[in-house]
Amino acid sequence: MPKKCIVILLDGIGDRSYARYGNRTPLQAAETPNLDRLSTLGCNGLYHAGKLGQPLPSELAHFTMFGYEQDAFPGRGALEALGADIPLEPDDVAVLAHFVHLKNEEGRLKLGYDRMCGDNNEIETYCKTVAEYEVDDVTIRFHPTKRMFGVVTLHGEVAPCFTDSNPMVDGRWLSDVVPLDSHRGDARCVRAAGALKKYLAWAYRQLEATEVNKIRERQGLPSINGIVTQRAGQLGSVQSFRERHGLTGLSIASGVMYRGLAHYLGMDFERAVDSGDHAFDISSRIRRAIDKFDDYDFIHVHTKAPDQAAHTKSPDAKRKVIEAIDTGLGMVIDELLADPELLVVVTADHSTPSCGDMIHSGEPVPMTFVGQGVRKDKVHYYDEIAVATGCLGYPRGDEFMHLVLNYLDRGRLKGIRDSASSQLFWPGDYRPFILPGEE
Ligand SMILES: [Zn+2]
Repeated sequence: MPKKCIVILLDGIGDRSYARYGNRTPLQAAETPNLDRLSTLGCNGLYHAGKLGQPLPSELAHFTMFGYEQDAFPGRGALEALGADIPLEPDDVAVLAHFVHLKNEEGRLKLGYDRMCGDNNEIETYCKTVAEYEVDDVTIRFHPTKRMFGVVTLHGEVAPCFTDSNPMVDGRWLSDVVPLDSHRGDARCVRAAGALKKYLAWAYRQLEATEVNKIRERQGLPSINGIVTQRAGQLGSVQSFRERHGLTGLSIASGVMYRGLAHYLGMDFERAVDSGDHAFDISSRIRRAIDKFDDYDFIHVHTKAPDQAAHTKSPDAKRKVIEAIDTGLGMVIDELLADPELLVVVTADHSTPSCGDMIHSGEPVPMTFVGQGVRKDKVHYYDEIAVATGCLGYPRGDEFMHLVLNYLDRGRLKGIRDSASSQLFWPGDYRPFILPGEE
């Protein structure tokens, strides 16, 4: 039976059907002989990390796939902070933030332009201008991460259950920063929301007054005069991936958030670079993983490329990216299939539609398992429609890790209690029975 697992995660590969493809999806329309070969060899199904129809962000979908309940999710802001090595105490709140152009219409702020790009000198000025602010016994700091993006941290008696200010679409009003209804009575959320709102108002006035913005205005450019925020989080503590599943985990990915998530779950992380050559990127990541199986039992190999292509709202761009990934897979597929101890999984975290206004969508994604002992069905194509007839069925949420442990022969017969902590694998990390007096 397989002893180790590689999860090749094609971010956002699921999509909708388009007339230009004869009412097929970009994945159906793409030429993917290598993905199809894996489907032919394996067990296929349609997976959703949450509830059917529910669009999930990558971070929450991954957290669930790795075997954790959504309620325990620490929030993307906290994971980005962790991934970017921003100092964060366990009780601090971290919020994603970036600079934008705001319009002030009689005191109401509207998102003017989201996709702004200042030069290095301007960005340095903006970051310095809003770097630190104190109000209501809360210290607020802006930590730059990449170009116009950063993380805002709140230090004090604070909690993260409050609204985003970022409306996400140009021309929409900014949302007020208020505690969620479910946390109106929580003084820490009330304090955090109030302090962040004051900071954002202060930042707007400070940024408006900077010399670099006055120069931009003279040049006829929109000023970069505001910060919008979203997805507040707070690090709690969580059982490590190793303790929960008995597997030593590694994540190979390019995004800072994946680094934060890996660190949060006690998995190792190796940063991959997105070169633009999607075939090279995926094949080199898989090769790196193959070389690491002496040290790890579970390796997550991630590519963001299909998701990013879908966000350009071009089904053709996505189809081409999928074909390039398939070419890359073809460079390493024989090595993957040659190892009898390896369980190969190809799947995605969510669907990302190449048309329409939604950011992600709620359709399930293809999931294929290949390995010794895995039931082989009659599916021959890796796509959203063909896999639906496979014998894996429709797994959901944390069932994914149960399936992995099952195929690795490590599944725990429910009810067996060999260790005091909650462990999904068997035999667990249990204490040996030592006769009293002999310890
Ligand atoms: Zn994703």
